[in-house]
Amino acid sequence: MHILQTPIEYLKGVGPSRSVLLKQELGIYNFQNLLTHFPFRYLDRSKVYCVNELNHEMSYVQISGVIIKIEEKGHKRSKRLVAHLKDSTGIIQLIWFKGIRWIKSTIRVNEKYIVFGKPNLYLNSFTIAHPELEIYNQDKLHNTGLYPVYRSTEKLNSKGLNSKALSKLIKNLLLHINDDFEENLSIEMIKNINLPSSKEAYTNIHFPSNNRDLIRASKRLKFEELFFLQLHLLKSKLIRNKHYRGYEFKNVSTGFNSFYKDFLPFPLTSAQKRVLKEIRNDTKKPVQMSRLLQGDVGSGKTLVAFLSMLLAYDNNYQSCLMAPTEILAQQHYTTLIEYVKNLNLNIGLLTGSTKTSDRKKIHADLENGSIDILIGTHALLEDKVKFKDLAFVVIDEQHRFGVAQRAKLWKKNTFPPHILVMTATPIPRTLSMTLYGDLSISVIDELPPGRKEIKTSWKTDSSRLSIFQFMRDQINEGRQIYVVFPLIKESEKLDYKDLMEGYDAIEKEFPLPKYQVSVVHGKMRAEDKEYEMKRFVEGVTDIMVATTVIEVGVNVPNASVMIIESAERFGLSQLHQLRGRVGRGAAQSYCILVSGNKTTNDARKRLKTMVDTNDGFKISEVDLEIRGPGDIMGTQQSGILDFKIANLITDNEILNYARKEAKNILEKDPDLSNVSNSNILKYYKKYSKDKKEWSRIG
Ligand code: ADP
Ligand code: MG
Repeated sequence: MHILQTPIEYLKGVGPSRSVLLKQELGIYNFQNLLTHFPFRYLDRSKVYCVNELNHEMSYVQISGVIIKIEEKGHKRSKRLVAHLKDSTGIIQLIWFKGIRWIKSTIRVNEKYIVFGKPNLYLNSFTIAHPELEIYNQDKLHNTGLYPVYRSTEKLNSKGLNSKALSKLIKNLLLHINDDFEENLSIEMIKNINLPSSKEAYTNIHFPSNNRDLIRASKRLKFEELFFLQLHLLKSKLIRNKHYRGYEFKNVSTGFNSFYKDFLPFPLTSAQKRVLKEIRNDTKKPVQMSRLLQGDVGSGKTLVAFLSMLLAYDNNYQSCLMAPTEILAQQHYTTLIEYVKNLNLNIGLLTGSTKTSDRKKIHADLENGSIDILIGTHALLEDKVKFKDLAFVVIDEQHRFGVAQRAKLWKKNTFPPHILVMTATPIPRTLSMTLYGDLSISVIDELPPGRKEIKTSWKTDSSRLSIFQFMRDQINEGRQIYVVFPLIKESEKLDYKDLMEGYDAIEKEFPLPKYQVSVVHGKMRAEDKEYEMKRFVEGVTDIMVATTVIEVGVNVPNASVMIIESAERFGLSQLHQLRGRVGRGAAQSYCILVSGNKTTNDARKRLKTMVDTNDGFKISEVDLEIRGPGDIMGTQQSGILDFKIANLITDNEILNYARKEAKNILEKDPDLSNVSNSNILKYYKKYSKDKKEWSRIG
């Protein structure tokens, strides 16, 4: 057993009862766990700052001075205790919002203190909220350096295992491991990138003697964490490319060429061309392609998918396109039928509502090979649906399908078909590199030319009348309008009431026969929903009042206004998806976000971001900032995002670097069998065993 696997009770100073606590409260079972229980901040005792030296970018600082006055201010919720601390250069205010009585009884006026805390600039002067205070003592000031502060819990604190005690245990641990620290990076890397050794890094992350050492240590540990993850992802990709045979599309011939030359409905954007090339290059090889295609709403993914399916057709293979809803499948079918009208190519549509007699014919035509492209919903997955020779699968709107469902598609031929997963939910690069690092990723980062930016505004309820007027003007110009209400499980009843009241109000404002209003929500029967949706798609109704059921994919180019009610309750990516329903035709389009007067900071940030930008990737970055990576991807995938020290939001650069290094190494030494990589291999063997396979598509 390696020294780091030693159970925690064997560490000097721990013993049986403390070990139980450490396990329960912090998940610390062995030496390794304690070693990577990193400080979450440091107290900088290396310098005592003067009041006039403070600036708002400083994190925790140390100041010393005399408390000259204490006063209570405010009432009830705004009640606070303010102490005025004076040094030779000025005065700052120390503020407490909690524990006022206790603090007041312990602070003495005219006493000299050392204060730790983060300075905030407020109305031109600095304050420190909830500082740590100690009576001034000359000796303490000689004690220079950075002091680690560890996450602890109330229970641990009450048993004497506070931050200080943890730091003592870690000190013991470092002494104990001493020369048994194993280096897991190659000597070459350490030299080239100029990193501290493993031992140095762990020592300095816990007990740095200055900021420079701390930064170096933290860089190395972040790098190490990201490097091994990227190594793992890239290795999985290598293994797959070696072992998963795929269908080789040897030819590009009549299907693709004649469509491309003579029937393209519009010139491809350069992003579409680039992605198409990427797909072509993959399918040329006898290796299965697994590709994620990201492209903002309206960026033209469907056409790329269709051209890729023509490549399969030219090689006598079948393809299928799976959509998350019946309406979407129908829409894809209509689009593709139009595309192929001059080609000798057969397209089928299979959904839940396909009649039994038609279904039988489709099943037969798939098996005898007379259907070249099948479009459909989940109905495609049924075991009864058998293909003659399926080699290319497109999945639209990835997040609606589970891994198990995708796996079913694999079984429909001798070896797995190429897979193209399309998503309009942009994922920040840092996240996709981590979550889908073992997939190939294509991005359409450009909208077709001539699209007008959607004009987005943020209104409150008080603008209701002018909003109605605006709606009338747009309808008079022949446009159609969406009005969307939130529907959230926990408040379903209330939401439903809001929706129906909103619908009533709109019907009153926009009466028959001059206006036609549709309503769609989750409680309606599927047929009624389809019917109402259809009326809107066909332009019969002017206004569609709906819950978020319309979020995914529907294409009504004539709709030019998206009104989102209670917009403060939607998440950013959802707002962006909803907005993407308009701006699909030639007319100028608008998105109006209607919120209540009171909104949280996060909600304001979301709405402001929507007003400021139409760029899905920018929006996803803000989303990541607000919510954190775990929330964005849903809990099931968040395990992979539990980093010990790296941070996907701020460590972008280190991540890029780590991926590049991992790539370099694997290119030269795919099995890590060179002697120079022996440190890496040794560590990686254990690492890869611990990692579950979490992100494979299919
Ligand atoms: P999404 O990526 O959201 O699935 P679609 O494939 O539905 O987008 O395309 C959105 C619209 O843009 C469609 O009406 C499509 O015909 C049109 N479109 C696609 N590519 C181009 C292009 N290169 N030039 C002009 N219009 C295009
Ligand atoms: Mg689409």
